[in-house]
Amino acid sequence: MNLQLLKEACEGITWIEPASSEYDEARHIYQLDHTAVPLAIVQPTTIDDVALVVKSATQHGIKFTVRGGGHHIMGRCIEQDTLTIDLRKLDSVEVASDRHTAVIGGGANNLQVARVLEKEGLATPLGLVATVGFVGWATLGGYGSFMNQWGLGVDNIVGAKLVTWEGKIIDANEEVLTGIRGAGGAFGIIVSLTVKVHALEKVLAGGMLFAPQQFKPFLQMLEKEASSFPPALQIGTAVFNFPGKGRVFRAELLWSSPDLEAGYEAIRRLKSLSPPAIVDDVSETALSTLIEKITAMIPPAYGGNETVSFGTFDDEALEILDQCITAMPNDPATVMALHHLSPISPSARTLSPQEDKRSSWPLHCGHTMIEIIGSVTDKTDKANKAKSRQWSVESRDALRRSAKSLEETYISMTYPGDRTLAQVYGSKWENLKALSEKYDPHGVFELAVPRIRSGMA
Ligand SMILES: Cc1cc2nc3c(=O)[nH]c(=O)nc-3n(C[C@H](O)[C@H](O)[C@H](O)COP(=O)(O)OP(=O)(O)OC[C@H]3O[C@@H](n4cnc5c(N)ncnc54)[C@H](O)[C@@H]3O)c2cc1C
Repeated sequence: MNLQLLKEACEGITWIEPASSEYDEARHIYQLDHTAVPLAIVQPTTIDDVALVVKSATQHGIKFTVRGGGHHIMGRCIEQDTLTIDLRKLDSVEVASDRHTAVIGGGANNLQVARVLEKEGLATPLGLVATVGFVGWATLGGYGSFMNQWGLGVDNIVGAKLVTWEGKIIDANEEVLTGIRGAGGAFGIIVSLTVKVHALEKVLAGGMLFAPQQFKPFLQMLEKEASSFPPALQIGTAVFNFPGKGRVFRAELLWSSPDLEAGYEAIRRLKSLSPPAIVDDVSETALSTLIEKITAMIPPAYGGNETVSFGTFDDEALEILDQCITAMPNDPATVMALHHLSPISPSARTLSPQEDKRSSWPLHCGHTMIEIIGSVTDKTDKANKAKSRQWSVESRDALRRSAKSLEETYISMTYPGDRTLAQVYGSKWENLKALSEKYDPHGVFELAVPRIRSGMA
């Protein structure tokens, strides 16, 4: 059998099959509803191992998926009857001698990146959930910490090392980098990514908790004032069901400049413009501590996300959002989260048309990406699960009817099958298809996210 031949070709590399006692742990991913059983999970520890696995899998006609942190919303890093290439052992993080960039291993996660950089007094934009893979996060967009100050994850990528469809190890040229910036591993397995890093010892972090009806006035304020806050102030918002407290709305704040006094001042101003909060807490902390704290609050989830992005909100859009929140089911895993990219972010403001052309990311403008998380914590409560999922789909459809919603959606949060990739990537789609034909001529990476060959998200 071809799989046996592949296993023999990969001798010396950890190989875990479904019958193995290590299988369940190795297969575990964020999306607990995804039950696909891969043929085997292979865990390379070196770049040469990755090259050997790709070359041998292609030779023996075995399809594969790539697993980083395992946090694709619907578990696309694992598919039935394919090989899973698990990169988690490629988790090195090395700061360049000039301290302007760092080389991040293809399987390193957000917390590992934050910890190493922090020890050096440095930081880079990253997501605030510890176990999300850094490369998967950054290459597909990368909303999160510091994006108003230093830009989205995708706009901090300056280089990459890949294993190509032929199993060759290459440094990405400018064309391949254009593809990687927005479409991740569709052109090869990214064994390392080089990103910009910035001086930062610690952050000011915390937030304000409000009654849910304050969501609309807070967003109205943000709509008006976003450009007046310093770029070092990152504001995220979410409505969720807090165990014991009921439905709440939280504004998550993060200050990323060494000038902490200016941070306290900006937060004081934000509070003075905001509706009254039930609780507010802001303190100085290490970024890794914040990541650990946030990650501990993420419940196990069964279900699925939907997404819509908005350039700006008008009264009608805010009214629809308000209605979605009122209709939100009560499960602790059901959430509406908004990622606000301020018009003053380098990803929206200072990026030149030439830089935009060197990227497949479609939304270099101020906008808000809305995550509509229709998940539940208890998979056995089928009625509750169906209700949460239905709410996420209905909210998505209602929001899309607003004239202010954007055609493009965030690939990482787009439910598989919901949009064509032409819709997701807008003006960048035709070039992406051409790059895929050129650098993956036989569709070896057709199961990557995004699945360019299928044309669907
Ligand atoms: C709880 C949670 C929180 C999240 N928070 C945020 C957030 O704050 N901001 C945000 O923008 N997104 C967020 N996301 C979305 C997340 O960033 C993306 O789904 C991301 O792609 C996950 O990367 P991963 O490596 O963990 O996932 P995986 O499921 O392991 O990988 C997904 C796909 O990415 C590709 N891939 C990953 N690594 C490589 C590599 N080294 N080489 C080639 N291809 C690779 C593969 O095609 C793979 O199938 C979140 C998702 C979850 C579930």
